[in-house]
Amino acid sequence: MPIILEEYIDPQVFEKIRVFSENKETPFLVIDTAIVNQQLENLTHVFPYASIYYAVKANPAIEILTLLRDKDINFDIASIYELDRVLSLGISPDRISFGNTIKKSRDIRYFYEKGVRMYATDSEADIRNLAKAAPGARIYVRILSEGTLTADWPLSRKFGCQADMAMDLIILAKDLGLVPYGISFHVGSQQRDIGAWDAAIGKVKVIFERLLEEDGIELKMINMGGGFPANYITKANDLEIYAQEITRFLKEGFGENLPKIILEPGRSIMGNAGVLVSEVVLISRKSRTALNRWIYTDVGKFSGLIETMAESIKYPIYTGKKGEVEEVILAGPTCDSADILYEDYKYTLPLNLAIGDRLYWLSTGAYTNTYSAVEFNGFPPLQSYFI
Ligand SMILES: *Cc1c(COP(=O)(O)O)cnc(C)c1O
Repeated sequence: MPIILEEYIDPQVFEKIRVFSENKETPFLVIDTAIVNQQLENLTHVFPYASIYYAVKANPAIEILTLLRDKDINFDIASIYELDRVLSLGISPDRISFGNTIKKSRDIRYFYEKGVRMYATDSEADIRNLAKAAPGARIYVRILSEGTLTADWPLSRKFGCQADMAMDLIILAKDLGLVPYGISFHVGSQQRDIGAWDAAIGKVKVIFERLLEEDGIELKMINMGGGFPANYITKANDLEIYAQEITRFLKEGFGENLPKIILEPGRSIMGNAGVLVSEVVLISRKSRTALNRWIYTDVGKFSGLIETMAESIKYPIYTGKKGEVEEVILAGPTCDSADILYEDYKYTLPLNLAIGDRLYWLSTGAYTNTYSAVEFNGFPPLQSYFI
């Protein structure tokens, strides 16, 4: 089935983007900042008790960071480069956390010198580095989370540690003069199973209770990471349902007096705000009797669509053409056979789709433009416009 435009974007907003795009050379990304605002309002409305730390990696454009700065949003940052950019916009370091558990000692020092006092960690070596390079800072320990199978872009295994180890690390941090502040987890990006938060909150509760009873350490904060959905072809619940359920899990675990709750959304703020505009470069059949046509577009895995790896994220694709449709294989423009976008999952596009026609990739506002290669095959990085 071809996609139904209004399931993903207000048709009037789409029309505005289409007209804006008309005389511009493809490919490029258009971000509608009004949608970013809407997503943000929606999030703060359904999670009124949470502090938001935007995951800068989802889209670090100055236009977006400035918008979020003016809305008093905080920032979850992973590198000294993201830090420099955020600080250059006049954002104060007490609105920043260093959320990457994998960091060099000299980078910790750099963050500390710039005034950042909140750090994620998940290993003994990192805690020892923190104690030296960021003395007295607040730390939170990231625990492993399951939910790999139900997240379309899992962030597990590489980050976090077992609950028992988290408790050891908290005690070590305290002994080394750091301030044990809380526990964090990330249930996986585009997590479709809301139960993943329940499981993680359950683990956090045990850690809170045991540290208090056995070691007299009172943790104050839960960082529930990201994982909230954008609108792709594989459906997820509305954010409101996520919030209702997650709030219930929290209250069941911690009662009415919740610890400080932090969220680190990236995808759910930016995803729906972007439309990637591309053009069909070539259409071919591999044999006289081949059932499926190949559609080659001027965007691919190396120009922003890396999350099509293993066909993980299925972006809604819209074309203005109407009429009878057929199943196609979609691929990018580069000389690398990894640059096939969708082959197992069959998109259906109109039979009259022709070379030079435009394809609009909806919900591409997160994790696209910065993933684009610098000049693979000489193609320039993906350009962004903000309207
Ligand atoms: C990437 C990342 C996020 C954002 O996750 P989304 O699923 O995009 O909301 C949040 N926290 C951390 C630590 C991350 O690495």
